[in-house]
Amino acid sequence: MIIEVKRNLSENEINALAEKYNAIIVTDRNRNLLVSSSSLKEIEETGYEQIEQHWVFDNDMQLSSRKFMPQTRNVNIGSFTTGKDESIVIIGPCSVESEEQIEQTAALIKENGLTSLRAGCFKPRTSPYSFQGMGIDGLKLLAKMREKYGFSIVTEVRDSTHVDAVIEYADVVQVGAKAMYDHGILRACGKARKPILLKRGFGTTLQEFVQSAEFILSGGNANVMLCERGIRTFETKSRFTLDLCGVAYLKENTNLPIILDPSHAMGYAYGVPDLARACMAMNVDGLLIEVHPDPSVAKSDASQQLNHTQFNELIQSLHPIAKAVGRNIV
Ligand code: PEP
Ligand code: MN
Repeated sequence: MIIEVKRNLSENEINALAEKYNAIIVTDRNRNLLVSSSSLKEIEETGYEQIEQHWVFDNDMQLSSRKFMPQTRNVNIGSFTTGKDESIVIIGPCSVESEEQIEQTAALIKENGLTSLRAGCFKPRTSPYSFQGMGIDGLKLLAKMREKYGFSIVTEVRDSTHVDAVIEYADVVQVGAKAMYDHGILRACGKARKPILLKRGFGTTLQEFVQSAEFILSGGNANVMLCERGIRTFETKSRFTLDLCGVAYLKENTNLPIILDPSHAMGYAYGVPDLARACMAMNVDGLLIEVHPDPSVAKSDASQQLNHTQFNELIQSLHPIAKAVGRNIV
């Protein structure tokens, strides 16, 4: 249940109510909300005068639900805001590898009139022997690109050892598919004053995915976006299976902006353009596409990154699809 308490309540009264209902206190644009388990269905009559309104839920998708907030949240990625009639195409290599590489990416972003650069510096690799990312040196290169070109920077946090550094350098903090269960990270993101791009774990149900977002929302950060990046199914010909049915569900039932990642879902560059077009047709807030000046030498996710020529062709074909669903690409 979410309970909005009357504005004239003292801190002590709010705390007492929170204790009574076993609730987390969330401040949301000057209102105080008490969020407790969805198993709570009724409030006591004697306390009615302290309560402005309340919402009852079937499950613990509460702050994220359209029942609580019907409109899609306005979350900023630099100068772009979600929930409106624009879609953002966020591009960049899987990993920051060198200044030269990231400058080439910056040129591609600029050439296409885009606004956001995404690349990882702390990589959650499947093997300890693979490239783990440039760490802080990579974050500094991304900060340099923001300074030079004004791009917003999206970069990921892998574990709690560097969460503060990533939060400090990023405009948007990406929580990866493997990190989305890490409660140290989720709680740090809840306290952060930066938007969070939360990726779906590949073995995660929609309910679990949205509940991870609820940790961040109830932790005090209202700026959460969901990223569907493919789930593991019985199919092995593609790296993962992009769950577009799940996207339809999330759009219908949650107020969280949605960014789709066809690159990690497909795992192979040949399939990414078609899938990206299908994603744009889903009328979502944005796409995340991996690009690399020379994918054959990429230090991570080499097989799925588009080269710059392939990306230039793709973006041309995305504009009319975005138009058809009532959006402009930024
Ligand atoms: C990435 O975005 O490069 C990445 C590691 O993605 P995911 O967490 O979805 O696997
Ligand atoms: Mn990647």
